[in-house]
Amino acid sequence: MPIDATAPYDDQNIFAKILRGELPCNKVYEDEWALAFHDINPLAPVHILVIPKGRYVGWDDFTAKASGEEIAGLMRAVGHIARELELVEPGHRLMVNVGGHGGQEIPHLHVHIFGGKPLGPMLAR
Ligand code: AMP
Repeated sequence: MPIDATAPYDDQNIFAKILRGELPCNKVYEDEWALAFHDINPLAPVHILVIPKGRYVGWDDFTAKASGEEIAGLMRAVGHIARELELVEPGHRLMVNVGGHGGQEIPHLHVHIFGGKPLGPMLAR
């Protein structure tokens, strides 16, 4: 069920548990600012989630409250992973779902990286 992007941060969300090491993930990258892992239910041949290490529900509170270093760290991690996985030349798609209309289900900001095949139109018509 989609979440309320304006709700307070819930420390019991799945990605918070992954960050604390309480749940496993299939990790592809980690640094001071971000953790990236394969989506458990991939929608493309490559489907990776990149999450900030800070406690942010989504794009709204992240862009309003995160430091410049946190924001740069997440953005650079996304770019680094795409380069490492050789997704730049063939192309790929980045997606962030926000709240109800966005279909966001996990209340910890995550950037989806999709790739590995032509991804078709941006949204179903
Ligand atoms: P969103 O709809 O943008 O909130 O996307 C949430 C994504 O998290 C979905 O693509 C799920 O398949 C994925 N997901 C849920 N639980 C896990 C998990 N434990 N490990 C990896 N990905 C997960």
